[in-house]
Amino acid sequence: MNLHEYQGKEILASFGVRVQRGIVAQNAAEAVAAAKQLTEETGTGWHVIKAQIHAGGRGKGGGVKLAKNLKEVEQRAEDIIGMMLKTPQTPPQGKKVHQVLVAEDVYYPGDSEPSEFYMSVLLNRATGRNMIMYSTEGGMDIETVAEETPHLIFTEEIDPSVGLMPFQARRIAFNLGLSGAAFKDMTKFVTALYTAYIKSDSSMFEINPVLKTSDNKIMAVDAKVTIDDNALYRHRDYMDMRDLREENPIEVEAREVGLNYVDLDGNVGCMVNGAGLAMATMDLIKMAGGEPANFLDVGGTADAKRVEAAFRIILKDPNVKAILVNIFGGIVRCDRVAQGIVDAYKNMGDAINVPIIVRLQGTNAEIAKELIDNSGLAVHSAVEFQEAADKVQEVLA
Ligand code: GDP
Ligand code: MN
Repeated sequence: MNLHEYQGKEILASFGVRVQRGIVAQNAAEAVAAAKQLTEETGTGWHVIKAQIHAGGRGKGGGVKLAKNLKEVEQRAEDIIGMMLKTPQTPPQGKKVHQVLVAEDVYYPGDSEPSEFYMSVLLNRATGRNMIMYSTEGGMDIETVAEETPHLIFTEEIDPSVGLMPFQARRIAFNLGLSGAAFKDMTKFVTALYTAYIKSDSSMFEINPVLKTSDNKIMAVDAKVTIDDNALYRHRDYMDMRDLREENPIEVEAREVGLNYVDLDGNVGCMVNGAGLAMATMDLIKMAGGEPANFLDVGGTADAKRVEAAFRIILKDPNVKAILVNIFGGIVRCDRVAQGIVDAYKNMGDAINVPIIVRLQGTNAEIAKELIDNSGLAVHSAVEFQEAADKVQEVLA
């Protein structure tokens, strides 16, 4: 589950990570009230107004603006809320901004220049360890840094059973060129950040930029936080942070009916039981020259109700021109699945407006094929995997 910047910062702060303080606002009046409150609490006169969408690169797209007084706070909030914000990470038409974060300006002048760093915490699947990736080149797109100046990206591997060791925190502060109070504060910052990553069951943190202020404090100015969905049951308070407006509407609906669905760009809808078979099915469709429109694992109980729910979800995607049902009847018997498909088809009537190819293998596969072939419905049955893929090509041609 992806979070908004303001939610990510809330979680970080709850584990003692210093963050740029801010208050979320739904409209210009709330933004002004938020700015006044921040001034009272932090003494800041200037504020930054930051669009809250699930995409980075907001600054470049005009979604992060400095406001030097309350009038400007109001104006900027008015400009940003409701806009279609386009960044390199949004769909081409942009994403609608529903709310802004009003934050204290932390780039104030002082004894030294503020400097920006990059830092992320993630799992390194290759080594089975957690990893802190960091760079002196903050505020920039890390992909660009990786391409142009890869020697400025550092990594620190962390054994999850031991945790981040103090010498590692010091090495990070050293590699970032810090000294004195900033050095010490950076070791505190990364230690708290790593604890937050572990305790919140996150799968990714990306803090870009991490800021060294002109008075040598280290803080998170941005926060991209992804919580591991499979651990959400341990964090009831995070569940409420899900913003459905930011998610694919078909995927949201699929989750509500308990289907494992991922929307893709192709034209062949897939209904499969088991994630492995689902991926193999997608490969086969591609090898036969098609493009899968989705990943869909219907799970173990492919009864009529579930099959119908799956058909309805798949058909919400207007790009779907054919549906391939590929089910292995291990515990679930093929004839029951076939009956489910026939019942769902009859029940849905005209709602099914694309050809359906069904391949059922396993227990009672022959009975299942007979059931489908004798149903009188426009369903093509196949026995072999390749045969099913070829039939998909036939109906698309
Ligand atoms: P992103 O563009 O979506 O990654 O959004 P960020 O939260 O990283 O903000 C973009 C940029 O806005 C940062 O890299 C900073 O340069 C700038 N910015 C953020 N906070 C402040 C602030 O308090 N004062 C000033 N002057 N600039 C800020
Ligand atoms: Mn950023």
